Amino acid sequence: MLYRLIDWSRRLARRLPAGLPSSCALCGIAGAAALCAPCHTQFFSHRPPRCTQCAHPLTAGEQAPSLCGNCLRTPRAFDATIVASDYSAPIDHLVLALKFGNQLALAPLFARLIVDALLRERAFAMPTIMAAVPLGEQRLAERGFNQALEIAKPLSRAIAIPLAPQLILRSRETFMQSSLTPDARLHNMRDAFVLGPQAAELVRGQHIAIVDDVVTTGVTLNEIAALLKRYGAARVTNFVFARTPPR
Ligand SMILES: [Zn+2]
Ligand SMILES: [Zn+2]
Repeated sequence: MLYRLIDWSRRLARRLPAGLPSSCALCGIAGAAALCAPCHTQFFSHRPPRCTQCAHPLTAGEQAPSLCGNCLRTPRAFDATIVASDYSAPIDHLVLALKFGNQLALAPLFARLIVDALLRERAFAMPTIMAAVPLGEQRLAERGFNQALEIAKPLSRAIAIPLAPQLILRSRETFMQSSLTPDARLHNMRDAFVLGPQAAELVRGQHIAIVDDVVTTGVTLNEIAALLKRYGAARVTNFVFARTPPR
């Protein structure tokens, strides 16, 4: 009976205009919340211990709060990463719906789930300024919006950290990181970002939050953090909705 009800709700949800907060984004059941309580419990209450620097799930031999083997072997330019979830089914569909299905109403939900993850951290140092991973002009024109910035807007309001949308800009177009091998990703992102006009003054001595929808290898976030540190940023923390789990 429950399954029939969920199926019925899903079909109904498909007929409703995208983005209305009239059904759960994951199971489609009707209700006022963007995510129903059972889905929240099922998909977002399990919090595996994660590396404080890159948010990679820690293995049995590694203990939180701690760094994963990758971060111990390869120093990162960023200092901390907060993620709301792993990038796996059905969460991946939410990300794709925002990015390629224009379901912008999902962005405030992602922001809220990042805030939930943040609130679970003990002794977390709050950033002083926020920016989103920028899109290249060509991709922005194609998509019409930057999904990272759409998440950053409600996140910035929720935790009262000022958003500086022009803090970081793309210096050139890059390939989609998801289409490349790990080595090619490094090359693709090298020197791909610059600071925006008057941004150097904003960055010096600050703790900067960088927002993105998905992190995989962390190459993009590392490139941005390295740029910010070169301009005197004191600390860089990433706020990301979903992290690709280890393969
Ligand atoms: Zn649900
Ligand atoms: Zn790590």
